[in-house]
This record gives sequence, C-alpha cells and structure tokens, in this order.
Amino acid sequence: GEKLLQVENLRKWFTIEGDTWFAKNQSVVKAVDDISFYINKGETLGLVGESGCGKSTAGRVILQLLEATEGEILLEGENLAALSTRQLKNKRKDMQIVFQDPYASLNPRLKVRKIIEEPMTIHLKLSKEERMEKVKQILHDVGLNEAYMDRYPHEFSGGQRQRIGIARALAVQPKLIIMDEPVSALDVSVQAQVLNLIQDLQAKYGLTYLFITHNLSVVKHISNRIAVMYLGRIVEIANRDHFFEDTKHPYSKALISAIPEPGSKHRRERIILKGDLPSPVNPPSGCHFHTRCPFVMERCITEVPDLVDVGESHFVACHLHNE
Ligand code: SF4
Ligand code: MG
Repeated sequence: GEKLLQVENLRKWFTIEGDTWFAKNQSVVKAVDDISFYINKGETLGLVGESGCGKSTAGRVILQLLEATEGEILLEGENLAALSTRQLKNKRKDMQIVFQDPYASLNPRLKVRKIIEEPMTIHLKLSKEERMEKVKQILHDVGLNEAYMDRYPHEFSGGQRQRIGIARALAVQPKLIIMDEPVSALDVSVQAQVLNLIQDLQAKYGLTYLFITHNLSVVKHISNRIAVMYLGRIVEIANRDHFFEDTKHPYSKALISAIPEPGSKHRRERIILKGDLPSPVNPPSGCHFHTRCPFVMERCITEVPDLVDVGESHFVACHLHNE
C-alpha cells in the first residue's frame, strides 16, 4: 500500500517538577520513547496498550497538538515539522481526532449545527448555505438527521454524542482520523453500533484510521494491522492475522489471552501477569516488561531489545525473538 502517515523515531518526554520539603526535584517521563510505524492509505492501525503507556500522547504529537521532543512525522511524505504555520494550518484539516469522552469533548453551549459547522468555517471556503447542506448530509452519514441540528449536546445519549463527535471530525474531509478510545466510554450495547459506523464511514470515504485503545478485542475485527505499546515503546507490530495467529511478544500474548471468547469450546489459558504496570516516571531497565514477563532472562534486565523484523512486516522487540 501507499503510506499516508510515517512516524520515525518519535519521542515525547515531559519534565515534571516536584518539590519536597528538603529538595526540588525533576524527573523525566519518557511518555513516548522512540517509536516508528506507518499507516497505509485506507487502512486501520490499532494502537493498543494499557492506560499510561503513551498511546494518547503519541496521537496528540502526531496531530501537532503537542510538540515532539525528537523524531519525524510525515503525512503523504511531507515532514510536518518543516512546514510553515500557514502550511501546517492546511495540513491540520487532513488530520482530525475523535476523543474518548463524548460528554467532555462537545461544547455544551453550542447547537449541533454549530459544532459540526465550526471546523468547516476554519478550513473550507464554503458559503453558509453550502455549510448547512454539508451539516445535514454528515448528520445523515453518522445515522442522525437534520431534526437534531438545533439541539444541544446534553439532549443526546452517549452513543449519539459520539456520532456527533465523529460528524465533527468528518466535516473537513480529513485523510487521517485518530480515534482515541472512541467507544470506551459507551455502554457495551452501543459500542458495536458505533464501531460499525466507523467502519462504514471508512469504506464510504476512503478514510485512514489510527485507532487507539486499551481494549484489544475492540480493534481485533476492524484493524488491518496492530501495534502494541508498553511504557512508551512499541513491542510488537504486525498485520492482524499474523498478530493473532503467530503472536511473538509475551505481553501481546497476555493481552490476547484476556480477550473473552464467548461460546468457544477450547478456552485459551489466561496469562496472568505478575505485578502492576510500573510507573512511566521510573520504568524498569532493559526490557521495560522484564518485571512482569514469565520468560524473563538475565539479559532482559540490562539490554533494551530492538524492534526487529521477523518476516512479512512482523516486528517484535523481545530477546526471545532476536537471535
Ligand atoms: Fe520477556 Fe525478555 Fe522478551 Fe522482555 S525481552 S519480553 S523480559 S523475554
Ligand atoms: Mg488515553
């Protein structure tokens, strides 16, 4: 496929100042620590990891909402850091985001028509009439209708609000949409409907998604490729079938083992990891996963495993697979 987005050696470090009664102290959180991946046009990359692993931060850096500490982000081969303010404004139109919380991400004082119209006003040269035509069409696209235009966010259910959030992202015809846990705040019964909508819209408009989630089962069926993050690093990336059928990384195996399989006779054995997710302020040395890994070896404690190609664009960062 043709690459829409390329992320090269991206780092985002935060400095945290903390005062104690006897000293000032500073610590560095390596929220995103040297990640590289690409997304082909028209595909969905599922970016999976526990909360605090850096996946949302990565999304915000890609969107230029946060400045990268290091590394490059290329959209259609263009390095975003090299663009002028004006060019960047143009590019912003091509990348939109749908946030996790449909209650917090819509301005409660704006009517739905205004919420969806606003990004068009900023990015598209359309008349008021043209914008209103588009608002109606987009509402229809997301399974709502124009009768909703003059209502306020509080009049809607969570699922409907997320449809409005999706409509707002669609309004400027973006190339890439970053879905940051778009169904995690919704009732389970509504999640499947919104996921179906997200897939239908991709087919209709040729959209490319970076789908960020802590829940592997949510992206299992909709991703073309899956990337797993652990404490700021990508530990495995592969196309969907390879990822599930030939899982390499012990952490990925544990995540897969936690997916419930209703109705299956042969139950997978659940891999229970010891301990909690370590703090990103002071992550374990070597392989960050070594404190919880059932296969930990001597070298894991000191040597950071490289992300290596094990064939067919399947990459894994683990000493077990790096001979
Ligand atoms: Fe486990 Fe070592 Fe592989 Fe890390 S490098 S996942 S600790 S075996
Ligand atoms: Mg998050």
